[in-house]
Amino acid sequence: MFALTGTVIDSERVLKNAAVLVEGNSIREVIPAENVGEYNVDDVYGGEGYIILPGLINSHTHVAMAKFRGLGEDVPIERWLNEVIWPAELEWTPKEVRRWALLGMAEALANGSTTINDHYFFADEIAEVARELGIRAFIGQTVMDEVDFPIAAPEEGFHFFRRWDGKDELVKPTLAPHATNTVSLELMREIGELSRERNAPIHVHLSQSRGEVETVKRRYGLTPVEYLAEAGVLGERLIGVHGIYLDEEEVGLYGKSGATLVHCSLSMAKLEGRIAPVVELAKSGANIALGNDSPNPVGLMDMFTEMRFAAVLNKVWRKRTDVASAEEVFSWATVGGARALKLKAGLIKPGYLADLVLINARKPQFLPGENPYSHVVYSTRGSDVELVIVNGEVVYRDGLFTRIGKTLEDLWREAEEKLLPDL
Ligand SMILES: [Zn+2]
Repeated sequence: MFALTGTVIDSERVLKNAAVLVEGNSIREVIPAENVGEYNVDDVYGGEGYIILPGLINSHTHVAMAKFRGLGEDVPIERWLNEVIWPAELEWTPKEVRRWALLGMAEALANGSTTINDHYFFADEIAEVARELGIRAFIGQTVMDEVDFPIAAPEEGFHFFRRWDGKDELVKPTLAPHATNTVSLELMREIGELSRERNAPIHVHLSQSRGEVETVKRRYGLTPVEYLAEAGVLGERLIGVHGIYLDEEEVGLYGKSGATLVHCSLSMAKLEGRIAPVVELAKSGANIALGNDSPNPVGLMDMFTEMRFAAVLNKVWRKRTDVASAEEVFSWATVGGARALKLKAGLIKPGYLADLVLINARKPQFLPGENPYSHVVYSTRGSDVELVIVNGEVVYRDGLFTRIGKTLEDLWREAEEKLLPDL
């Protein structure tokens, strides 16, 4: 058993001078810090001036796209995808995906994400990297059948799912149809059947461009959300991403189904100059989670940055400042993600998974400390994270990834060396 001490902040409460006792893979108790001595603890981390948060949940990402960081800037999403990303992705080898997934995932962990929900090609490689680092990971092999894209063959998506279903405590497979315009209704129905049979999440891009909406309309006479309903996948296992072109009727239908909408505000602001109607979606009953959509286009695997932008961009988009409060955005990044992925996580309570982040807040930016949620969303950077615990295990501490015995700088140096041409 070990303890973290400091100010506990989750979306239900703030406790000053508290200690979180971790035993096995879960939280045993939350007690006043001065009582830690009464328990038989092996280690105590943190102390005065530290903040303890539930691990942040990045509910939509493509970690290997770290390779494309900085490419295709300042173009709309269809050009970004067709002219920059897809041609580059057709060149992937499994080894390369593994190398870049390690960098993207390490960056996520070091910046306080204890769980990622990834959607990509060569998913076995990504799953193996997650296992090596000790991050909690939901991983889907991207599939498409309306686009000729050999590495996204539907069969491989099903095979990947079956290979990893029930195989690992931390790494879970998902079903990952690419989007409503790149997957036929027939294939989406088939995915829905497996999802029902195995109680598996379906992770899909939804209404992310005008072209997507037009294609689905032309092909089936349906909106993207009607298409999902028609395929039998609209419900609590559905994790739809982006949703920036949803109309009012779709918002109502989506909310009623209890599905999750992953809000990637920074990515969509950069690629399409707009964001999802999450305020209305939340009101109509949808679960809202947050994602970064990968280091391209946003530049960082840092959920603190995502929370900050989600709060600010919603205010600009709605031309109102009384939406997306710091507390609400923080709940999207914690309990919203946990609900989407059916995890007993996101809160710091006895019996919950010990997925925790310790922030070193002994810095001027955390003063005066009167509004904890504001400090988490507006004053914290990923680099303030000192310790990360996943499933009760310290997997990152002061720059070191404990399972692989490497630091952030080691990973950077090794990557630099590998990227140099052979002499
Ligand atoms: Zn995406």
